Amino acid sequence: MHNIDIDFIEMTLDIMKYSINRVTDNSPELGSPKKASELKELVGETITPEGISGEKAFKIWTDILSKANVPINHPRNLSFVPSAPSRASILFDLVTSSSNIHGSYWMLGAGGIFAENQAMEWIVSLTGLPEGAFGVFTPGGSGANLSAIVTAREFWRSKNPENKNKKGLIITSGGAHSSVIMMAKITDTDVYLINKEEKLNAKDVRDEILKMSLEDRNRLFAVIATAGTTNAGIIDDLDGIANLCQEMGLWFHVDAAYGGGALASPKVRHLFNGIEKADSITIDPHKWLFTTYDCGAVLYKNPDFAKEALSQHGSYLDIFQDEGAKGFNPSDYQVQLTRKLRGLSLWFSLAMHGTETYRKAVEIGLDLAQKAKELIDENPNLEMVREPGLSCVLFRRKGWKPEDYYNWTYRNHKENIALVTPTKWQKDNELETVARFCFINPDTTEEDLKIILKTMN
Ligand SMILES: *Cc1c(COP(=O)(O)O)cnc(C)c1O
Repeated sequence: MHNIDIDFIEMTLDIMKYSINRVTDNSPELGSPKKASELKELVGETITPEGISGEKAFKIWTDILSKANVPINHPRNLSFVPSAPSRASILFDLVTSSSNIHGSYWMLGAGGIFAENQAMEWIVSLTGLPEGAFGVFTPGGSGANLSAIVTAREFWRSKNPENKNKKGLIITSGGAHSSVIMMAKITDTDVYLINKEEKLNAKDVRDEILKMSLEDRNRLFAVIATAGTTNAGIIDDLDGIANLCQEMGLWFHVDAAYGGGALASPKVRHLFNGIEKADSITIDPHKWLFTTYDCGAVLYKNPDFAKEALSQHGSYLDIFQDEGAKGFNPSDYQVQLTRKLRGLSLWFSLAMHGTETYRKAVEIGLDLAQKAKELIDENPNLEMVREPGLSCVLFRRKGWKPEDYYNWTYRNHKENIALVTPTKWQKDNELETVARFCFINPDTTEEDLKIILKTMN
């Protein structure tokens, strides 16, 4: 298995060639899923006692399996929150994988963790969190939210012995991402959901807290605001909610998994005012900071609280104490122990291109949203549902029913034109199906927008 022979060298060259092609291909075929039964028919059984050879397995990958995936970086893939990792980030992901560094402990990964931390310092600086604040890279926004919720709850419990026996409660809004609800479930935390997808204000939160029973108020430990809702790019009133949290002694978590990249743009930075008062923040570099999957980040105003809540102990772990081994251990600040150095690909790309390039690339997404609005306003068949939120655009095709939107999505996907999925938006107490763009990819052009909008005439 670890031998190097001529077959191995050939396979290596094939894989490198494939990777180079994939990295340099700006507009790969959109690709579409197939049923598992169809794939089984095409691929057969690949796991056998003797192995099917690297050559054969790789051919199955290139000819069949790779085509049953949708390239998330296609310039006309504007669905969900797409991703467009920089080439530098992809290439360094290869380096990260081939080095296979254990990224949990400074003892094992000092060089890599040092690099990750330099990228993290930049992210922290974008938020304006005070001196002492820091963060770690996680597998994504879900893992970041989980780490933050556990930290907040443990902090709350540490403040008062009575809280140890109470089930905690968090308050958030209808704009919160599904992962917040899921992470609450995992931590056995109740969620008080404010039914509002538009901007959440401090007054909304205060009113709801005042409506709560005393018992609920006593088990409320955190407010989770969103800075760039996934559906519409809406940023809650972070400053007002931060002040309210301070007044009420509540943990303030800001979920900026999608929107956080926009902190790099001075044009919209003011929309995030108050984020610097957060106790914890989630930002996904694999969304709007052009990093390969999977790379999220969780930041803490006071990382010691996270360490208190999340560091693992065991006789087999507590040996990392000699001088060179002392340093920052990422495993202390998020829920994973053994971890890939997932921030390395961001570090390399940032170091290569510089932060100015990141600012510009983020601003292309913001500008595309404004351009889309112009094109929609000009088209008599189309209508904006609301103003663009960051790089999210919600709009309707006049006269279309929900099934028209879904058929339009399927047709465009099948014809290799675009992948644009609809969403729902509240209108007069009803959920209306509407079209949605989310711009991340700086290679998307105005021409791409025109091609897509034309399919709605
Ligand atoms: C995408 C997203 C998440 C979840 O992040 P993953 O990286 O998919 O786990 C959480 N919150 C918001 C606001 C998001 O947009």
